[in-house]
Amino acid sequence: MLDELLDNNRKWARQKTEIDPQFFTRLVNQQTPEYFWIGCADSRVPANEIVNLDPGEMFVHRNVANLAPQQDANYLSVLQYAVHVLKVKHVLVVGHYGCGGVRTAIESTDHGLIDHWLSPIREVAHEHRHELEACEDDTIMLDRLCELNVIAQVRNVATNPITLAAWRSGQPLSIHGWVYSIRNGLVTDQGVTVSNLQDRLEIFGV
Ligand code: ZN
Repeated sequence: MLDELLDNNRKWARQKTEIDPQFFTRLVNQQTPEYFWIGCADSRVPANEIVNLDPGEMFVHRNVANLAPQQDANYLSVLQYAVHVLKVKHVLVVGHYGCGGVRTAIESTDHGLIDHWLSPIREVAHEHRHELEACEDDTIMLDRLCELNVIAQVRNVATNPITLAAWRSGQPLSIHGWVYSIRNGLVTDQGVTVSNLQDRLEIFGV
């Protein structure tokens, strides 16, 4: 059943070494990615492919609706490793329009465990309810909520003690908020890049 995938894998590995014979040998010894991607698990948002980066160039963490919850041990461990061990220079929080997680979060029906995971999005929706209620239709409202969710997660990363420790030690680290469009493949920067405490104060007031 999976023969096609294994076949693809062999072709891919062969192509990589044809272009660059040392490609895998180099990766075995170390990874030195400058970027850490926090994105949605959605199959239509393949992290490396969207920004055309090779293996070894971007550290990736994906979950439903690209959340950075302050109490999630999985996310926190990945963030700590990315910032303190790999010393990435950029954290990219990447949401996408048409996110099923964001839509599910504000539906009134019961979805089980996923409703618990998505509760931070309901908080964002509540915080911005006046702006969201004023949207022309549901698609526009959900797209805006995708953006607001990304901005909230940038704030989470920027207020995390792991990030603070990096800044205090003089380590260069910027956190960016992006939203990807499945319709045209393009990323939009949300203009909330935080590189230090001054940026954070100006953008988030904290
Ligand atoms: Zn999604």
